[in-house]
Amino acid sequence: MHTIRNYIMAESLEQAWELNQKGRNNIIIGGNLWLKMGRRNIINAIDLSSLGLDKIEEDEGGFRIGCMATLHDIETHEGLNKEFQNLFKEAVRHIVGVQFRNCATIGGSIFPKLGFSDVLTAFLACDTQVILYKKGEVPLREFIYIPTDNDILTHLYVKKDGRKTAYESFRMTETDFPTITCAVAKIQDSFETVLGARPKHAEVVVDEVVADAFSSEEVADYAKRVIGKLQYGSNIRGSEQYRKQLSKVLIGRCISRLTEE
Ligand SMILES: Cc1cc2nc3c(=O)[nH]c(=O)nc-3n(C[C@H](O)[C@H](O)[C@H](O)COP(=O)(O)OP(=O)(O)OC[C@H]3O[C@@H](n4cnc5c(N)ncnc54)[C@H](O)[C@@H]3O)c2cc1C
Repeated sequence: MHTIRNYIMAESLEQAWELNQKGRNNIIIGGNLWLKMGRRNIINAIDLSSLGLDKIEEDEGGFRIGCMATLHDIETHEGLNKEFQNLFKEAVRHIVGVQFRNCATIGGSIFPKLGFSDVLTAFLACDTQVILYKKGEVPLREFIYIPTDNDILTHLYVKKDGRKTAYESFRMTETDFPTITCAVAKIQDSFETVLGARPKHAEVVVDEVVADAFSSEEVADYAKRVIGKLQYGSNIRGSEQYRKQLSKVLIGRCISRLTEE
């Protein structure tokens, strides 16, 4: 359990950012679900919920998602799920329960780059920009390699670019942390694959391959190449070898969903 000395409702992003620069014991708070599992002594917990950052706004080019929007908001957003073939609905539906998903935020799910994250896996399957208060716009695919600092994630912007996506995960029981997460995007005639919980944070492999008329041998070859480009490890949920085997199966399932029409 953590302790919080001062709970501050930020009146502006500038105030929140300034407080957040004052050392490790000052912290931005999202839904407080992951944070409360730790044992930190927090001096200032900075709450962004009065800054109107909980909206999902759709425009011609994409979706602008505020950091305080919840996992249940992306699970139930009609436009977002229609555009990406229920990617977000599928990615978050195993995360604990609806009450939990009504509290867990997008900022708290993306900023810490959690190694098991279904949410990170799903957003990496799209062309997603992370909008940071000081650094500005950074592609999510670059953000995952930037060391975590004291900036504030204000929004994500997910571009509509006509890609088709499919999501699969494997967990030991319905609401456990995933043993492996997998999302595949079909962009015109090529695929991009995201694999997470390996047990490292999700990463994307772009491997140019023609998507039409894929035989099962070609799918297996593709999966082998993708898996070979990523680092895997072992933990209580599974060995490296087991995770590689699961990845092969999940990539195959995603590709068959994307190519059957
Ligand atoms: C029991 C349990 C089971 C879970 N299972 C899964 C699962 O199966 N799959 C999955 O994908 N996820 C899972 N999660 C993670 C969950 O989905 C959320 O990602 C997590 O709780 C963080 O969201 P939060 O809003 O609670 O963030 P918080 O706990 O409030 O914050 C987490 C971190 O993010 C920082 N932060 C928050 N918002 C911002 C911001 N806007 N800018 C900068 N930094 C910010 C905080 O300072 C903190 O360091 C699980 C979590 C728990 C507690």
